[in-house]
Amino acid sequence: MPRSANVNRAAFLTVAAGAGAVALYRGVAWKPAAAADYSIQHSDADWMRILGRERYWILRQGGTEQPFSSPLNAETRNGTYHCAGCDLALFASRTKYDAGEGWPSFWDVLPHAILEQADHELLEARTEVHCRRCGGHLGHLFDDGPPPTHLRYCIDGLALRFVSA
Ligand code: FE
Repeated sequence: MPRSANVNRAAFLTVAAGAGAVALYRGVAWKPAAAADYSIQHSDADWMRILGRERYWILRQGGTEQPFSSPLNAETRNGTYHCAGCDLALFASRTKYDAGEGWPSFWDVLPHAILEQADHELLEARTEVHCRRCGGHLGHLFDDGPPPTHLRYCIDGLALRFVSA
């Protein structure tokens, strides 16, 4: 059966959480990366308890937060962006920039922080990035970023925790 981006994009879910409800979407085909090599592992029930519903949806189920919803879009202080699942340092603030897409974006990643895997949930092939230590889904990598790398790490704010320098 032919795949349809419209069908996949229609996989919306509204998650009631904390102070309000936030609409999130994901492709129906997303699967967590194989867990065998991650040094930090928890059961699904424990991840839900540790992360809360919104972060669980992003990190453990491949969800994507609504664009322009993250307070981290406006974060400009010096510091480091850590994995919200396991606290591994992932991105340095000096590589953060505003890509205008509505998610925190970075043109580089810290060494040994992330792993990549092909993502075919939309018609356009993309590269999904996840935490090297806990396997948490972070976002996607594109090749339309600024110099010097021309990379764009498009990351869900809910997958990150900012630690100021
Ligand atoms: Fe992690």
